[in-house]
Amino acid sequence: MPASPPHILVTGGTRGIGAAIVETLTARGARVVTHGSKDTETAIGADLADPAAAGALWDRALDRLGGRIDVVINNAGVFEPIAVDASVDDWHAAWSRTLQINLQAAADLCRRAILHYRERGAPGRLVNIASRAAYRGDSPAHWHYAASKAGMVAMTKSIARGYAAQGVLAFTVCPGFVMTGMAEDYLSSRGGDKLLADIPLGRVADPAEVASVAAYLALEAPASMTGAVLDVNGASFVR
Ligand code: NAD
Repeated sequence: MPASPPHILVTGGTRGIGAAIVETLTARGARVVTHGSKDTETAIGADLADPAAAGALWDRALDRLGGRIDVVINNAGVFEPIAVDASVDDWHAAWSRTLQINLQAAADLCRRAILHYRERGAPGRLVNIASRAAYRGDSPAHWHYAASKAGMVAMTKSIARGYAAQGVLAFTVCPGFVMTGMAEDYLSSRGGDKLLADIPLGRVADPAEVASVAAYLALEAPASMTGAVLDVNGASFVR
């Protein structure tokens, strides 16, 4: 169990799944610091496309939380297409940007969290929001997205195995389609109903459903669950 009330940093908490996670955790009494692309009244801004941004975000979040963070939820992510016949420069730029935001920034925050937990001699948790794409793959325009999320799953399992003895618990959530702005664009671009027919539940997930899983992992999941990957996809991909 994290300290009470737990101090939690949520990346990409300004909208979509992240905003639902912030709302759920706050309602459950956690002290939450939200991150977004830009500084707002409530969120710390940091453009995670900048390799230095995750470190700066950590420092500001730690300061805002009075020097103690118990849980980090890496939720920020981009889902940007790149065509296989794009120029090689555009192709490399797209891969580099997606891997930087979706994977490297999350790795940098996990690293800072582990060093912080070690320094404090206290337990801590990491909850990483990956995707069904990590296991199933994604569209022809999203190899890099699927690769970034598969990397996140492997990274989180490595952390779980490597640091469990020090009290660090690490979990991954793999949503399928979730009705946020990002998914709406994707669904309409893929013909909506046809895609829904591939989901036995008959609908995409609600952000609150993913948030309830993330909150469970952040606050309650038993230590023996560390390393687990939880699917939230309406049985559209069972494994
Ligand atoms: P969203 O686009 O609504 O929100 C993404 C969040 O990430 C925003 O708060 C945004 O500020 C932040 N972000 C994006 N680029 C950033 C950058 N360069 N610097 C800082 N912050 C940045 O997306 P969402 O649907 O809520 O997705 C949240 C997470 O869930 C992502 O990691 C996404 O890959 C994953 N996911 C979403 C779906 C889905 O269908 N919506 C499915 C599977 C996984």
